[in-house]
This record gives sequence, C-alpha cells and structure tokens, in this order.
Amino acid sequence: MDKKAVILDIPVDIYTMDQAVERLTKDTIARKRDFVVTANAEIIMMAQTDADYKKILCERCDLVLPDGAGTVWAGNYLGYDVPERVAGYDLYVNLLEKAAQENIGVYFLGGKPGVADAAAKKAKELWPSLNVAGCRHGYFKPEEDLEIVKEINASGAGMLFAALGAPKQEKWLDAYSSQLAPSLLMGIGGSFDVLSGNVKRAPKWMQDARLEWLYRLLKEPSRFGRMLALPKFVLEVRKYRKKSPAA
Ligand code: UDP
Repeated sequence: MDKKAVILDIPVDIYTMDQAVERLTKDTIARKRDFVVTANAEIIMMAQTDADYKKILCERCDLVLPDGAGTVWAGNYLGYDVPERVAGYDLYVNLLEKAAQENIGVYFLGGKPGVADAAAKKAKELWPSLNVAGCRHGYFKPEEDLEIVKEINASGAGMLFAALGAPKQEKWLDAYSSQLAPSLLMGIGGSFDVLSGNVKRAPKWMQDARLEWLYRLLKEPSRFGRMLALPKFVLEVRKYRKKSPAA
C-alpha cells in the first residue's frame, strides 16, 4: 500500500482513517518508527516557501496523511483517488483508543501550561485503561530540548504526540527523531486544546459540509491571515494540474 497523491510536489499517502490507525498501531507494537504528518492545505502551502519543511515532508517523515477537505479535494482534482480525509485530531483520538486497548504508553508534549494535563485527564475519563506516561507544556527554550527528550524516553511511551503547531512540531520531531525512543512521532497542532475542551471543534454538520475552516475563522478571527493560504492553495493546485502526471 504505497499509493501517493503528489500535491504541489508533496507526496501524500493515500490512506483511509482505518488504514492509518491499523498501520500505526501495528507498527508501534512492533516498535517500528513512524514519523507522521497530517498535511492540511496550510501545511502544504507552508512547504512551498520553507525548503526545510518541504524536505521533512518529502524525505524525512514516514507517512503524510490527507488532512482536511482541501487536501482531499486537491488529490482528487489532480487525478488521484483520495477517498477521505484523515484529520489530525480524529487520528489522535482514534490512536488513543487503540493505545488504551493495546496498553501502549502515550506522551503529550505541547500546548500552554496545564493544557496537556487537562487533555490527559479527559483522555483518562474516556479510556480509563489509557497509560499517559507523561505530559509537558510546549513553551520551552532550545536549551531544554535534550532534557525533554530524556524525559520522554524515560517515560517508556510508545506514542509521542507533539502539539507545538506546524511547522514547529515537525521540525522539533525531525531534529530529535534519532534520539527519541517512542515509535510513533506525530504533530497534532491544537489537539490538546480541543480534547481538553478549551477550544471547541466545529459541529458535525459543518465538518460534513466541509466548513470546518469557516467555523475556526468565526471563532478565532485572528486566523484570517493564516487562512489566506487556502484560496492560494486552490489557485496553486489549479496551475499544478497542467503538470500533474495523474490528471
Ligand atoms: N504551541 C506550543 N508551543 C509553541 C507554540 C504553540 O505548545 O511554542 C501550541 C499552542 O499552545 C497550541 C498549538 O501549539 O496548542 C498550536 O495550535 P494551532 O491550532 O495553531 O495548530 P495548527 O493550526 O498548526 O494545527
């Protein structure tokens, strides 16, 4: 299973949610490394102007998943068959459920002080058998990096979820990937904020109508600048179709 949709030069793995959860759980149990990026349109656009980030997505990570309606649209528009979105938050929650079932320790790194702990508390309510091996907030200095890596390794966690925002989380995971013991390394953006209840996700009908971006914009108008990446993404993908091998 190694089909990829190449979107603006980023090779996105064509996986369904179920396939992603199955592979990542299996690999973690087998202690096989998976460095995962859930690539939404914003991330793909960031990679267009950030060569280091592009290299991480193209060469360094093990799985790039189609996060968001924009990425799924682009894949299909470019002639690939991308069946569904594998949203970072949903994947995170599904993996926590599996981790609880399979007795895999998880580590929560990121968010404002207290948020990872609140997310862990909520996760324990939802899956009482879950082993949250450690939590740490995401506001630290580079001098603290190695101590954090040590702490994560000492926790025995098999899955590390880093919520530092993109591209910071992927750059941090990439920089320490060879020193980090957990099998799964995954950036999850603002997911601790959502799980802890600090930030609400769009209602299901808005998600189904592909309007989650509108909900986030209404809730956090300061995101407007960042969201300009979305129309730019559409324009770039339209241009890209002319040179897409699959179109
Ligand atoms: N964050 C962090 N350390 C930082 C910068 C950000 O832990 O130095 C956290 C922030 O508290 C928030 C998350 O990273 O929980 C980023 O959330 P956002 O919704 O912006 O993520 P994205 O849109 O990239 O998924």
